Amino acid sequence: MTANGVREVIIIGGGPAGYTAALYTARANMSPLVIEGFAWGGQLMITSDVENYPGYADGILGPEMMQDFRRQAERFATEFITDDVTQVDFSERPFRVWVGDDEYRARSVIVATGATARQLGLDSEKTLQGRGVSYCAVCDAAFFRDEEVVVVGGGDSALEEALFLTKFATRVTIVHRRDQFRASPIMVDRGRSNDRIELVLDSVVREVLGADEGRVSGVLVENVKTGEQTRVRADGLFVAIGHDPTTALFQGQLDMDEAGYIVTRGKSTETSVPGVFAAGDVQDHVYRQAVTAAGSGCMAALDAERYLAALEAGEGDLAPAPTA
Ligand code: NAP
Repeated sequence: MTANGVREVIIIGGGPAGYTAALYTARANMSPLVIEGFAWGGQLMITSDVENYPGYADGILGPEMMQDFRRQAERFATEFITDDVTQVDFSERPFRVWVGDDEYRARSVIVATGATARQLGLDSEKTLQGRGVSYCAVCDAAFFRDEEVVVVGGGDSALEEALFLTKFATRVTIVHRRDQFRASPIMVDRGRSNDRIELVLDSVVREVLGADEGRVSGVLVENVKTGEQTRVRADGLFVAIGHDPTTALFQGQLDMDEAGYIVTRGKSTETSVPGVFAAGDVQDHVYRQAVTAAGSGCMAALDAERYLAALEAGEGDLAPAPTA
C-alpha cells in the first residue's frame, strides 16, 4: 500500500483467475489486496477430482487445488480479505471498492468474480454434488466410461455436453422441460441422430436418486404435461442449464454483453474502463476451464503492471474513467 492508502492493485475474486493474478502481481512487487469473497474458491469448490489441470499428474480434489492456488499467492505477501465486495466506484481515480463500511482504494483493479453454473435447486442435487452430479462434461465425462448418464437442459451447452459424453457413456439421456430446443438446429440434429442419446422431452428432474448410497443412482423425472413420474437409472447427472456471470456489482460501470459477461478488448483483459481488467469466467463464456481462467488471471496481472508502468511514465490514460 502506498503512503496515501492507495494500493497498486485490488483483485476481486478468489478463484483460479483471481489467485493467479495475485501470484503474478505479488511477484511484481505490487502488493495485491485480494478480496476473495466469503465463499472463496469458486466453482472448483463443488468439484471433486480434477484430472485436467496440468502439473497435477495424479489429479487433485478441486477444493485442495484452490487451497494450493491461495497458498502460492500467500507465499509472496498477498493480502487477503475473506469477505464479499459490496460496492465499487470506477467512475473516478483512484478506484474505490467497499466491503460493507470499509473502503479500499487502488490505482488498478482486476475483476475475477467468475460465473456460477445454474443449479436445479434440489436438495438431493446439492447432497450429491461431486458424487455424480456435475456441471462440466469436459471436466468429468471421463469418470463415466461405460456408464449411463442424464443431461438436463435444451440449449447448446446441453447438446454439446451430451455429445461429448457419448465418447464415454453407453447411454446419455437428455431431459428437457419443453418439446422445442433452444439449441441450434444442427446441434439438435446431431443429438437426434446419435444412437447413444435418448431424448426425454416435456420433462423435468424432480429428484436425484442415490443420496442414501452416497452416489447418484438415477433421477426421478416428471412429464410436465401428463404428471407421470419415471425413474431413469443413471450413474451421473450433468446439469447444463446455463451459467450466470457474477457481475451485478459492476452494472453501469463496465461494458457487458447481453448475457451479462464483462466485455474485454481484443486479446487483452482491458475492460471499458482503463485501469480495470477482467479475467476468468466473468469475461469468458466459451472455454470456462480452470486452466484458461488461470491463464487470463496472468494476463490481467501483466496488463495491470504495464498500465501502471505507463502511468508512471506519463504515457497512460489519466482521463476520468468513462462510465459504461
Ligand atoms: P441457454 O441457451 O440459456 O440454455 C439453457 C437451457 O436450459 C434451456 O434449454 C432452458 O430451457 C434450460 N433450463 C434453464 N433453467 C432450467 C431449469 N431450472 N430447469 C430445467 N431446464 C432449465 O444456456 P447454454 O446452453 O449454456 O448456452 C448459453 C450460450 O452459449 C448460448 O448463446 C449458446 O448458444 C452458447 N453456446 C454455444 C455453443 C456452441 O456454439 N458450440 C456451445 C455452448 C453454448 P428453456 O429452453 O425452456 O428455456
